[in-house]
Amino acid sequence: MSQPLLQVEGIQVVYNQAILAVASVSLQVDAGQIVALLGANGAGKSSTLKAIAGLVNAERGCLQQGRIVYAGQDVSHTAPHELVQQGLVQVLEGRHCFAHLTVEENLLTGAFVRKPSRAALQQDLERIYQYFPRLKERRRSQAGYTSGGEQQMVAIGRALMAAPRLVLLDEPSMGLAPKIVEEIFEILQALNQQEGVSFLLAEQNANLALHYSHQAYLLENGHVALSGSSAELAAREDVHQFYLGGS
Ligand code: ATP
Repeated sequence: MSQPLLQVEGIQVVYNQAILAVASVSLQVDAGQIVALLGANGAGKSSTLKAIAGLVNAERGCLQQGRIVYAGQDVSHTAPHELVQQGLVQVLEGRHCFAHLTVEENLLTGAFVRKPSRAALQQDLERIYQYFPRLKERRRSQAGYTSGGEQQMVAIGRALMAAPRLVLLDEPSMGLAPKIVEEIFEILQALNQQEGVSFLLAEQNANLALHYSHQAYLLENGHVALSGSSAELAAREDVHQFYLGGS
């Protein structure tokens, strides 16, 4: 059997040497998969993603235990920019666009780590505009003046400019209208199917995430409470009862 693209083994994340955000989480993402990380507020989804992206140190956090293996290499203590160079790219909660740059300038910042030729850069932009026609329309607009949905698209598009194999996405639906959220998830699915990009996404909207993902992990108080194929989990009565708000 081929090795998983990402293997997280029993990680523990502690902030300020006191707050246990992730007690023990193990998960795996196979190449070509969309994997959902579900759970209520404070369950540890963001901290898990940040640990994988090498970002907990920046928040006075520490990966206390466990191991993160990406593309066959132990990257538990690899710097974020090196992970990006290796194709592991994160889109953090809150989108973080450069408000004063145009949409296109924002996208170009994503390619910085690769230093592609001018022609390759143009090609990459066109490829991203195919998936996000809205961004093409708004490419000369300052990102700060675009809508929340467009800013989320900019953040995802910028991550794609780094030519990722795996994108970590934190709450892509946060604060957005259902119609735009669906548009974004349709684009993620197309990117997954047509470009082979894998996604690990943290989502509070479990119904939506289960619909678009292959596998899912349900976090509770920093532990994996349940995991399995998304179709199986979505069909389970107890999952609906206890985790999906009876919906
Ligand atoms: P949310 O959807 O609200 O982001 P989450 O499932 O992503 O929730 P985390 O953000 O990982 O959960 O938070 C897990 C726990 O760690 C919470 O108790 C939170 O208050 C705490 N926490 C998260 N980030 C920090 C930080 N930088 N410093 C201290 N505690 C933190």
